Amino acid sequence: MIKKFKLLSTLILVILSITLFGCSSTPNNNNNNDSKKPVQNTTKVSEQKLPEESFKAPFKAANQGVPVLMYHSISFEKNNPLKVPPEQLEEEFKYLKDNGYTTISLDDLYNYFEDNAQIPEKSIVLTFDDGYEDNYTALFPLLKKYGLRATVFVITGYVDKMPAYLTSSQLKEMNSYGVDIESHTVNHDHLKTLTKDKQLATLTESKAFLEKLLNKKINYIAYPYGEYDNNTLECAKQAGYKMALSTDGRWSMKKNGIFSLDRVYISSQFNMDIFKDRISNPNYKFQ
Ligand SMILES: [Zn+2]
Repeated sequence: MIKKFKLLSTLILVILSITLFGCSSTPNNNNNNDSKKPVQNTTKVSEQKLPEESFKAPFKAANQGVPVLMYHSISFEKNNPLKVPPEQLEEEFKYLKDNGYTTISLDDLYNYFEDNAQIPEKSIVLTFDDGYEDNYTALFPLLKKYGLRATVFVITGYVDKMPAYLTSSQLKEMNSYGVDIESHTVNHDHLKTLTKDKQLATLTESKAFLEKLLNKKINYIAYPYGEYDNNTLECAKQAGYKMALSTDGRWSMKKNGIFSLDRVYISSQFNMDIFKDRISNPNYKFQ
């Protein structure tokens, strides 16, 4: 009986928090005043969708670099450079919005590199590694508030299994809004240390897992720790990926290889001047 009561109260709490979260995460929706109908509110949130964007001139010249930013967790932990506090992320998002940056998708980046498709001169790609749950609770509301595009690279073996990582229902909701969900292997594997067969297995299995869950094609992967060798490059192609990203480096350039693109590391220990330098200057100073 007590157990039943506990279960019921937990359920009520969960429903309540989903409803509350739903309200606070739709600041741009002016018609969202029907607080008497909480059930409809949650439905509205999941029906929200990032609008399609048609790119405007000035366009970027062909074969240039594009800053692909790499974040991880959006939370606060003293002296942890990989955890960027939501307040810092919001300041950075606001800067992008106020200064004419366009967040393009990995599809846009791929089409620019491979088919000379046009992208805005001030294009930027936002990526978040590992699939932390705070990407749903802290990042997702900010993406909605500022109308920005982003990719989350998910460790598929952690989904619904590890606390503090995204669940399948959170992934589905983010995906249906327009957040791009892509692969970060099954177990955050050190790819270089694996045999070729095992590399192929983790690249293939993580791709298949997300394709089944999200009912879409998974085309991109971020190598954990940025580690890869020649086998990785071959296996990524063989597994059916179109493009792959490494870690800390400079802007993504086609000449570095479509399966070993650099990304720009963003740390909680960088101030706004460092952030601005990294997104505006391809030869930015390493810290
Ligand atoms: Zn990672």
